[in-house]
Amino acid sequence: MLAERTALFKSSGTAAARAAAEAAAGSGKEIIDLTAGEIWSDLAPTIRVGALNAIRRGINRYTDTIGMIELREALAQKISGHTGQVWRADEVAVTCGAKQALFNAAMVLLNPGDEVIIPAPYWTTFPAQVLIAGGKPVHVETRANGYVPRVEDIAAAITDRTRAVVVNTPNNPTGAVYGSETLVGIGKLAIERDLWIIFDECYGDFIHVDDAHCPIVSILPEARSRTLIVNSFSKSLALTGWRIGYLAGPKEVISAVKALQSHTTSNPNVIAQHAALAHLLNSDGSYERHLRSHLAGARQTGLSALSTLTRIPVPKATGGFYFYLDVSGLLRLRFGNDEPMTADDIVHVLLTRAGVAAVSGTTFGDPAGLRLSYGVPPKKLEIGLTRLVEVLNAWE
Ligand code: PLP
Repeated sequence: MLAERTALFKSSGTAAARAAAEAAAGSGKEIIDLTAGEIWSDLAPTIRVGALNAIRRGINRYTDTIGMIELREALAQKISGHTGQVWRADEVAVTCGAKQALFNAAMVLLNPGDEVIIPAPYWTTFPAQVLIAGGKPVHVETRANGYVPRVEDIAAAITDRTRAVVVNTPNNPTGAVYGSETLVGIGKLAIERDLWIIFDECYGDFIHVDDAHCPIVSILPEARSRTLIVNSFSKSLALTGWRIGYLAGPKEVISAVKALQSHTTSNPNVIAQHAALAHLLNSDGSYERHLRSHLAGARQTGLSALSTLTRIPVPKATGGFYFYLDVSGLLRLRFGNDEPMTADDIVHVLLTRAGVAAVSGTTFGDPAGLRLSYGVPPKKLEIGLTRLVEVLNAWE
């Protein structure tokens, strides 16, 4: 009945984890849901005013397929400030979230059978999109190296069919931030072996240690002609539902993306575009500071709760808003009558015994991991982690 292509993907595991939490809550249990890939927060005032003004002005029509020129110019300016290089509007496409930016990139760069190196654990959509585009995801393990890929492991995974490498820092799900040595190493490899770099920095605003996040193109300008920068307002401005993100890269790629997007979604929502533009033009950075300090507080609360775990190392959580637990020490141990074998089983035990919803590492290609989001209200986080620690420490 359906196309063969549908066998290549299933609904995202994070969405499934959220659905399981909702189903458990529906059955009357009080569930603390730590699955969300988004931050609990009010709208930024600049976004609210920008959107309301656009509605008051009666804005209702299509814009340029890849976004209003004023917005692309403002984004080019932002990227220029961020990278220390000059970027122009024709090197930027506005998309319906970073997800569409990445999908566009896969569709315009990959030929059938082309391989894309994706460090694991990985955000589940990266390999799914590569498969949909006819490519082949190739994974490189990072767990033994603090969830940062080793350049030599990436080099060893390159074949004649390798077309691109995904660099997602700060990383979802692990929260790892790649240092400049790793970035330069990957960049040089990409130049040597003629690869594209898909640089996803959606969590770039959330770094919780001194080890600052740097865009790969600033530390290795020679890599710019083969790098696509992917970013979004979803995380940095807590705007997941507004679906607004962007892709920046060589203008030939951007014009191919424009042609593709003209046959898929057309322009991203016009009100969201106006709101984003108003924010870029008028923000004094206070909303971003507020989000960062909310997350820094939540991270501290979370880390002190998790420091009482007995069999699981406390995560570093250097970037983003996730705690990623290495639960390998619990696998095969008993919990009451259950004998968990995978992170999926642990997630199930946590949901049923602690009333806490987490995302299993299997969603991210890692059978020994567990992702907890701390972008939730502080009280909820505290209760959730206290319950979680109690159950995880009760493993025999
Ligand atoms: N890239 C990464 C690493 C993400 O974690 C996400 C969302 O979870 C996205 C991209 C997509 O974000 P958006 O909401 O902008 O589509």
